[in-house]
Amino acid sequence: MDCLFCKIIAGDIPSSKVYEDDIIFAFRDINPQAPVHVLVVPKAHIASADEVNPSNSSSVAHIFVKIPEIAAACGLKKGYRVITNCGPDACQSVKHLHFHILGGAQLSDRMA
Ligand code: 5GP
Ligand code: ZN
Repeated sequence: MDCLFCKIIAGDIPSSKVYEDDIIFAFRDINPQAPVHVLVVPKAHIASADEVNPSNSSSVAHIFVKIPEIAAACGLKKGYRVITNCGPDACQSVKHLHFHILGGAQLSDRMA
């Protein structure tokens, strides 16, 4: 499958890894939009939040169990934002489910 994040997970494209286990992979965004900008992805390909269902949702639950650990490891003591863009109206550019963790500065109170 021609998927950028599957290639990053496989190590075929280099990335700055911050966390990995059997189920998920986390790495720094190549174009950070905050002092800390990490992407957390399931290793199994899921195209977007719109594709989450009872048979693959355990990997999404695992991501949310690990997000506090990843955020702490990245020094995010004062909070952070978790975002997933889903589909064209939300400007999803990579069609492999990913959660942005943004922090390290006061973020805007606007979400859209
Ligand atoms: P989206 O717009 O789909 O929500 O987010 C995709 C994110 O992937 C963007 O923030 C973009 O900067 C990031 N990105 C795109 N290509 C690469 C890459 O090759 N390596 C890394 N680390 N991030 C990437
Ligand atoms: Zn993929």
